[in-house]
Amino acid sequence: MAPDSRGTTPGTRPGVRILVVGGGYVGMYTALRLQRKLKQRLKSGDAEIVVVTPEPYMTYQPFLPEAAAGSISPRHVVVPLRRVLNDCTIVIGEARRIDHAKRTATVTTLATGEDGTGALEIAYDEIVIAPGSVSRTLPIPGLAEFGIGFKTVEEAIGLRNHVIEQMDIASATRDPAIRDAALTFVFVGGGYAGVEALAELEDMARYTARYYHNIKPADLKWILVEASGRILPEVGETMGTYAIGELRGRNIDVRLDTRLDTCEDRVAVLSDGSRFPTRTLVWTAGVKPAPLLAATDLPLTERGRLRCTATLGVEDMPHAWAAGDAAAVPDLTASEPGRETAPNAQHAVRQAKVLADNVLASVDGRPLKEYRHAYVGSVASLGLHKGVAHVYGRKLKGYPAWLMHRTYHLSRVPTFNRKARVLAEWTLSGLFKREIVSLGSLEHPRAEFELAAGGGSGTPGLPGPGRQKGPGESPDDPRKDS
Ligand SMILES: Cc1cc2nc3c(=O)[nH]c(=O)nc-3n(C[C@H](O)[C@H](O)[C@H](O)COP(=O)(O)OP(=O)(O)OC[C@H]3O[C@@H](n4cnc5c(N)ncnc54)[C@H](O)[C@@H]3O)c2cc1C
Repeated sequence: MAPDSRGTTPGTRPGVRILVVGGGYVGMYTALRLQRKLKQRLKSGDAEIVVVTPEPYMTYQPFLPEAAAGSISPRHVVVPLRRVLNDCTIVIGEARRIDHAKRTATVTTLATGEDGTGALEIAYDEIVIAPGSVSRTLPIPGLAEFGIGFKTVEEAIGLRNHVIEQMDIASATRDPAIRDAALTFVFVGGGYAGVEALAELEDMARYTARYYHNIKPADLKWILVEASGRILPEVGETMGTYAIGELRGRNIDVRLDTRLDTCEDRVAVLSDGSRFPTRTLVWTAGVKPAPLLAATDLPLTERGRLRCTATLGVEDMPHAWAAGDAAAVPDLTASEPGRETAPNAQHAVRQAKVLADNVLASVDGRPLKEYRHAYVGSVASLGLHKGVAHVYGRKLKGYPAWLMHRTYHLSRVPTFNRKARVLAEWTLSGLFKREIVSLGSLEHPRAEFELAAGGGSGTPGLPGPGRQKGPGESPDDPRKDS
């Protein structure tokens, strides 16, 4: 069966078509389990699993901070979906609408627009909706223009290149104001994404500074802005307080109960009145459900997540299923009623297993299972050999916590292939010096040729239009290095 379902009305096909929207934690793990359990039916054509995903890979997000620090190569942070889901039909594209009443999803692909045939209408019998979340931004002046997110492997690697590039700028400029702004790094949001990203990059930049004749580690200014009175709520209050002490001990300016007010013209203005000219503003202040959810006929909560039951079905919508960051799933282990499971990988992976089993049980007319998992705590890395952990009631800090962080995530990263590659990289980086190079020009591979061919101005080999840009920057972007 082809993914283009024009002409394939649900119920008229011989088998069942399960459409999985999203190729992240929930999407990949659900499809993997369905693929294993439906092996024979998939082979005989009695069933089909279609996965719609914008990228051909699943990203293991907890490794993004280490990828940014250069401890893991970007391609080892992702899992190729075509390889692990080889019995599924993979459609690289984005679901734009879901019309569950008609059991169809409207999907645009890279070819949409080029072939002139318009979006695909994919019919399904069962749908698993797992588009995850996107950065939750606020209408802060300047944020959309200057902010950098930290949710994708592209952003993580872009940020690494950008940080090293700022050190190159600071080293080269004769203007003290440009130098100060280049060496000032502001991170907003004290959850694990923000804290780990800041801690790993600070560690990397401090090490890198030893190779610059005119930059000392003390010249780098790192600021963590957090609106609440604590950081890393995932590891509990005691370990969160320890993490603040550890970061402040490294001269990182941790500002609690503080918000970013504006960041226009590359100046971060905080609610405590302080102002920091900066060329790096990383926004990790929470997530909101993927925009796709608003383009469905399915029930949403006030916060925009899909309203789900404990069996991971969408409420009152037979044949629609959801889990992960996009789903509001009742937390059956919570002491107060009405609590939802938190948006994290711990729940996403476990929910995917129950979800896949329930989809199959529903197709076969068997009873469904409820999702129940008590949060077991979390581990966080604070840079090389530093970390905090609060897992199964045990609190660890420093090197043991960091080791636990690595061991835990190594055990969790999907596929043996990835585990072996990540372990090899860690082992090699223990034997050799850290990589300190910025490959920002990889983001613009045609720039050199365009200059040579006379398509741009500037001198090949020197920074000019189309070269030396940071994350999200374009030649006309106000963030352009100059
Ligand atoms: C930097 C970072 C570090 C983290 N560290 C941890 C940690 O240590 N521990 C932990 O428990 N959690 C951690 N998390 C959170 C965890 O990664 C998420 O909770 C988890 O990925 C949620 O899984 P998901 O399947 O719901 O979404 P995702 O894994 O984000 O997958 C969603 C997928 O859907 C795709 N998609 C989106 N829109 C569409 C569309 N319209 N059509 C088709 N596909 C679409 C996306 O491209 C993506 O591939 C971290 C997150 C980040 C960003």
